[in-house]
Amino acid sequence: MIIILKKQISEAQKKAIKEFLKSHSFKVKEIVGQEETVFGAVGINRIDIREVAILEGVANVIPISKPYKLASRELKKSDTIVNVGKVKIGGQRIVAIAGPCAIESRDQIMTIAAQVRAAGAVILRGGAFKPRTSPYAFQGLGEEGLQYLREAGEAFDMPVTTEVVSPRDVTMMLDYIDMYQIGARNMQNFELLKEVGKTGKPVLLKRGMAATIEEWLMAAEYLMSSGTDQIVLCERGIRTYERATRNTLDISAIPIIQKMTHLPVIADPSHATGLRDMVAPMSLAIVAAGASGIIVEVHNQPEKAFSDGPQSLYPEQFEKLMRDIQALCPVVGKSLERIPQGRPAVEIWGGVQSALISTAQTLKIAFQGERGAYSEQAIKTVFDEDADTLPCRSFSDVFDAVARGEARYGVVPVENTLGGTINETLDLLHSHPDVTVVGEKQIRIRHNLIGLPGSSLDKVTKVFSHPQGLAQCAEFLTGELAHAEAVPFFDTAGAVAHIARLKNPSYAAIASSVAAKYHEMEILKDGIETDSSNFTRFYVVCREEHAPVFRSSMQIDRVAFVFSVSDRTGSLFEVLQILSKYGLNMKKLESRPIPGKPWEYSFFVEAEMIPKQQFTKATQELIATCASFRILGTYHGDLR
Ligand code: PEP
Ligand code: MN
Repeated sequence: MIIILKKQISEAQKKAIKEFLKSHSFKVKEIVGQEETVFGAVGINRIDIREVAILEGVANVIPISKPYKLASRELKKSDTIVNVGKVKIGGQRIVAIAGPCAIESRDQIMTIAAQVRAAGAVILRGGAFKPRTSPYAFQGLGEEGLQYLREAGEAFDMPVTTEVVSPRDVTMMLDYIDMYQIGARNMQNFELLKEVGKTGKPVLLKRGMAATIEEWLMAAEYLMSSGTDQIVLCERGIRTYERATRNTLDISAIPIIQKMTHLPVIADPSHATGLRDMVAPMSLAIVAAGASGIIVEVHNQPEKAFSDGPQSLYPEQFEKLMRDIQALCPVVGKSLERIPQGRPAVEIWGGVQSALISTAQTLKIAFQGERGAYSEQAIKTVFDEDADTLPCRSFSDVFDAVARGEARYGVVPVENTLGGTINETLDLLHSHPDVTVVGEKQIRIRHNLIGLPGSSLDKVTKVFSHPQGLAQCAEFLTGELAHAEAVPFFDTAGAVAHIARLKNPSYAAIASSVAAKYHEMEILKDGIETDSSNFTRFYVVCREEHAPVFRSSMQIDRVAFVFSVSDRTGSLFEVLQILSKYGLNMKKLESRPIPGKPWEYSFFVEAEMIPKQQFTKATQELIATCASFRILGTYHGDLR
């Protein structure tokens, strides 16, 4: 059952409820949500829920209708994020787990670890205990293999995962690995599930070859009720009559299971297909279907692999696949999970919370608009889902909040693929010399027609949205919705808040699905933008003194700067010559009027970053040549 607690509940009341439930042999789990805190209680005992409902501090009690309780979305609405070492799985991230089917030698795992890490894998896989169909096939190196795996993980700064096949190995494996893998053949080995669950360590739970989705979730329930809530589900193909592939990848299980559970789901295209050439297209399909990542087999010499060679990718194929996935990420509103480097990185990327404690300063992230704005969506892909956001009325307020220290970071749009550069952002960067750019993120803008629950397209008479939102949906508004009037509003998410307040079923808004969810409104039609390749690029900005912490978590490969030149022939040419001399490859060049100086212009440049020493020299020459020159920031470019 789900026990919804009253907002003003005291700690003593909470304790009393817990004790009451425990005395009736229930296991209790507290889930703190944005809106409410609940207790999930599961147990074999039957109890009249009215006995719980009358306890002090209880707002409501709802029975969970599904056989899987702790794993169900009914109990926990928000996505669970699983922490594997310093890597996170779930939410808006795409993770790539890669490595050989089996650990064959120290050399082999070291070589492959280096290759997959360089290509963008964030967790290393490799089997030390191989459950093989034939007892005569290679069974794995056992504990020796685990030692090599751990060593490779440490050498390349990657968490590691490997399959556990026997309850008697669970404790021995504990210190070697960051995540247990339960293989398809063991999905219903309940004794193994209970033993592994007790450790509290993350578990990658593969779907059994002939398991229904519900049976798979019941296996997760075993793990959860034994003591871990860190579970990643993995679709790996099921047995069907089709023999063209090793198994049949059940792609539809991905969106289906996400409705049923809060646990993240990834998929394994290697075991699902058994064919190397199928791995890349299926990986893209997996990401497109909404999964949180892939686990793939990669081998430096697949033809010599001890097991599963024919389905193992060559390292260069894996590298290409990672680039294709990166290109797909913004389409599905996700970003590739990277390995945070060093301690400061862990503080920022590993959890806004920890930095909050260690610095005792605000870590709010400011954005323009109301809750659910596209900028807030961008924040959630850069930082954690539960990042503490600060809505501001204008872009200028965002910069002021950052400059005054009311927010640690600001996330502001800088360019849209349809609307072009957002000049106000550039001007504000110019007028805030203490604020610098530290990051870039692009997200796909997917507009939805949002109305009151129960409303429908034919009922709508007025549509509110930001003028850009209305313009970007012109075809829909003049076609299918020609009977309705388009009303400009100051921002998209604000328009949703507006119709939510007015409660008029004939009013609708155009905004993100996040805004619809936030205001508990209904999506009457999704994807109504005229041009589906509508992306917005955001900058992450902060005060100069906080920049090193953010930058240390990523590879810096972009620089943005602004300059002006004196009014004489060839002055711009001289600047461009310096850029060319130092190999500063320009990605964008735009001229902007200089505020307060009519008919004078500055130039805004984004370029590929060069090694630091070179860059310092280039900067010195640029300062000497330009009338004015300022670096707006260095960052990791999200666009390749
Ligand atoms: C594996 O990942 O190495 C493996 C054996 O997978 P599955 O359990 O899905 O067959
Ligand atoms: Mn394998």
